[in-house]
Amino acid sequence: MIEIEHLNKTYPSPGGDIHALRDVNLRIEDGEIFGIIGLSGAGKSTLVRCINLLERPTSGTVRIDGRDMTQLSRRDLLKARQDIGMIFQSFNLLEQRTVLRNICFPLEIAGVKRDEAQARAAGLSDRAKNYPSQLSGGQKQRVAIARALATRPKYLLCDEATSALDPNTTQSILHLLKEINQTLGVTIVVITHEMRVIEQICQRVAVIDQSCIAEIGNVSDVFTHPKSDIAKAKSPAENLPPCTGRRLRLVFDGSCSNEPVISRITLECHVPVNILFADTRIVEGSIYGHMVIDLPDDPQQFHDVLRWLDHNHISYLQEDGSHV
Ligand code: ADP
Ligand code: MG
Repeated sequence: MIEIEHLNKTYPSPGGDIHALRDVNLRIEDGEIFGIIGLSGAGKSTLVRCINLLERPTSGTVRIDGRDMTQLSRRDLLKARQDIGMIFQSFNLLEQRTVLRNICFPLEIAGVKRDEAQARAAGLSDRAKNYPSQLSGGQKQRVAIARALATRPKYLLCDEATSALDPNTTQSILHLLKEINQTLGVTIVVITHEMRVIEQICQRVAVIDQSCIAEIGNVSDVFTHPKSDIAKAKSPAENLPPCTGRRLRLVFDGSCSNEPVISRITLECHVPVNILFADTRIVEGSIYGHMVIDLPDDPQQFHDVLRWLDHNHISYLQEDGSHV
């Protein structure tokens, strides 16, 4: 378990101190994939680097499995870091080393003899003899992941690991991370500025805004009922026309499976539905998000639709057409 309490990080600078983190409190449970999202400059990289003490916190504690990382001797810290793998946006592979020797690198640092390290790293990549410059971005990140896992860590920290990759490669890397979590039980911390990355693989998320944690919760809650401005801003701006009939906002909180709700309303209630806005996503087979629909100005039809929604356990808000 990773427990962060009252963590502050200040960088001194000629123009005055930069407060990169202010009173951050977080608890990341074993086995979860935990997301940290925020805009550029919010403090994400600083936070993740304080977990493995690549950055020394100005104050506060970082406990990993009950041990306060800030109190460890240099030697114990190096040992503790073997339990915490890390991958980066820019892969950070050693260009002069082959893939195999890159993967061996953390083992060598840990004092494993070169032959044994190579034996342990064998089979972790089908590109063992290549140099990083001969690989695509996705292949480089796979090597970086293999390297991060070489010491069989309990935790894997990912700082914008997919931000330099195209959408298809991003998918394959996210898939790999999920598999690593499920098959090896590695606890994963995913740092990103992309909501979609969080939605795809994280169970819980912390939103970091201007050095502070703005909210923490299940991805589904933060996504459907954002409290912080930054999480709200992740929804596309709604610019809706004035309402001529009756307007409803359907709220999908994950209790409803992915089914054609609008088609069913149209068919079963015999009411034409006009979709004005939809920001819904499927997460693990359940639907999340909002949809704004207009219905004809007919009290009976409106009543039928509300009954249908109640019956199907779909939450809704009646929207005042004058100001949505
Ligand atoms: P993010 O990863 O969310 O983009 P960072 O953690 O990199 O944000 O940076 C947070 C803030 O701390 C920024 O204002 C950044 O300029 C500042 N910062 C980060 N690292 C240093 C450093 N080594 N020295 C001075 N300021 C830094
Ligand atoms: Mg960063």
